[in-house]
Amino acid sequence: SKIDITHLPSTNCPDNESLLDPSDKDHLLHRSFIEPPALVERAEGVNLFLSDGRKIIDACAGAAVALIGHGNKEVHQAIVNQLQKVSYVHTQSYTTQSAEDLANLILRGSPHGLEKAFFVGSGSEAVESALKLARQYYFEKNEPERLHIVSRRQGYHGNTMTTMSISGNLARKVPFEGFSYPHTSQVSPAFAYRYMQEGETEVEYTARLLQELDDEFLRVGPHKVMAFIAEPVAGSGIGSVTPPTGYLAGVRRLCDKYGILLIFDEIMCGVGRTGTFFAFEQEGDAVPDIMTIAKGLGGGYAPISGVLVHKRIVDVLRHGSKAFNHGHTYQAHPTSCAAALAVQKIVVRDGLIARCAAMGKILESMLRTELRDCWSVGDIRGRGLFWSVEFVKNKQTKETFEPSIHFGGRVQQAAFEKGVALYPCGGTVDGKKGDHLMIAPPFIITEEELRTVCNVLREAVESQQRLFS
Ligand code: PLP
Repeated sequence: SKIDITHLPSTNCPDNESLLDPSDKDHLLHRSFIEPPALVERAEGVNLFLSDGRKIIDACAGAAVALIGHGNKEVHQAIVNQLQKVSYVHTQSYTTQSAEDLANLILRGSPHGLEKAFFVGSGSEAVESALKLARQYYFEKNEPERLHIVSRRQGYHGNTMTTMSISGNLARKVPFEGFSYPHTSQVSPAFAYRYMQEGETEVEYTARLLQELDDEFLRVGPHKVMAFIAEPVAGSGIGSVTPPTGYLAGVRRLCDKYGILLIFDEIMCGVGRTGTFFAFEQEGDAVPDIMTIAKGLGGGYAPISGVLVHKRIVDVLRHGSKAFNHGHTYQAHPTSCAAALAVQKIVVRDGLIARCAAMGKILESMLRTELRDCWSVGDIRGRGLFWSVEFVKNKQTKETFEPSIHFGGRVQQAAFEKGVALYPCGGTVDGKKGDHLMIAPPFIITEEELRTVCNVLREAVESQQRLFS
């Protein structure tokens, strides 16, 4: 029988005023109970407009996310168009054109043999999915003993149980001991500023790192290792660290030697951030079997991440079980895919990756000039529009500040007060929390805006140096 809906009132949705009691508030759990985050009312281009009237240059694009900037009307329209067509379907039975088109745009021509894309919501979900895919690959190849994941100290791969287990960010692990994936071990990061020895050449440093990885594979038993995972340009852990020449190509060769899968986590450094669509493309002959992308994919307009899979992995499933035994309710969400598709079309149409590479060179030179005389700036590193500054107590010895000082956090706060947002990288150096700040603005940033960012950063550094010299 038909349900009669004629009696329902035909009013609009109730507004906040009629639903919310202003005295019954503070129900949202923020990251910190101490410092309430700033309330953003509006965001446009590279700027955030706060409820207290301040304008902030978003010089870190959130967390290297908003690559085409905020408030893009074309993306808004694409989202509305998608919502008017299909807001949601479950991928068990359906697909949508926006999901198909997004995969086809990103993997047009199967770059480097990457053939299939699997879309989920967050970076952590993408890494989890990549690991499960690697596991299923070996299960189907009848190598079930391959469970071990080798990663790198100071790498960051996410906040879920497995991704946290393989990440090196010690601070984030503190309350969760026991919440861990047991089959994992870590090798040294490829981090020349900190760990290349005096008198050692880059070639020798690369060789040493590769020897360590080879030794680790042998220690575990290569037949038990499922994958080696690394960020081609390390991001939120230690701040825009590019690998020494030949390192990633050497890693690829080692993985091939033992039949171990190579996973590149480009959640942060991918999608153009370093000046090429894939960060690994600047590292010679180093193509992953599986890789993850996220932040720049949807540019912040909707949550979306992707797992990109090489044909040789796809083929095993295609001819084996014929299905990836994994899925989420919101995978390949149509609105997220439509948003990401619109963002990526704008990136292509406006040549934003080439712009990122060009503006990156300008940013590098400004950073090096502005911060040249700052005694606390130990290292300035990065690629494309993905730069970080590492602060030290002593430039010569590279000694870090006492973690309780929070030097990087202080500089971040001082810059914010002067209208520039920077991203704190939370990694550890020699077991202590390091002091890094990331500058990773939207690709549309202008030279003048970059100049303001660098001036403000210098002033912020100087203001804190005065307190600790
Ligand atoms: N992997 C890398 C390299 C990241 O930088 C991040 C987040 O910063 C993640 C994984 C986790 O992504 P999410 O925070 O979206 O879960």
